[in-house]
Amino acid sequence: MNTNENITKHFSRAELACRHCGELHMDQKFLEKLELVRMAFGKPMIITSGYRCEEHNAAVSEGRQLGAHTLGFAVDVAISGEDVPKLIELALKFGFTGFGLKQHGPIQGRYVHLDTVSLGSQKIPRPRLWTYP
Ligand SMILES: [Zn+2]
Repeated sequence: MNTNENITKHFSRAELACRHCGELHMDQKFLEKLELVRMAFGKPMIITSGYRCEEHNAAVSEGRQLGAHTLGFAVDVAISGEDVPKLIELALKFGFTGFGLKQHGPIQGRYVHLDTVSLGSQKIPRPRLWTYP
């Protein structure tokens, strides 16, 4: 399989696939939204996590096997500073509803999680923004 193959205009299979096993099962509508955000953003968006298999998710998400990443409805983008509100504004505009922020600590560890699915807590209104410790 050619991992440089583009899945959307700006995102390759390699950057969206599970970092642990290379599987990639992302929702097509999600990818279309992500590409719309990328085009409006106008510069590279570094994906640090896209699709995750259940094993990988459990390893990085406090043992939880299921999550927005395992269902193919989430990405984490390495981003900080003035680009953060710009990304969130565009993601809201194009239909993302979940925003997880890690914006403290070393710059290289800062990111924004974007998703379009609410899991196990459908009663929590969206759009919704939260922070990571
Ligand atoms: Zn995996």
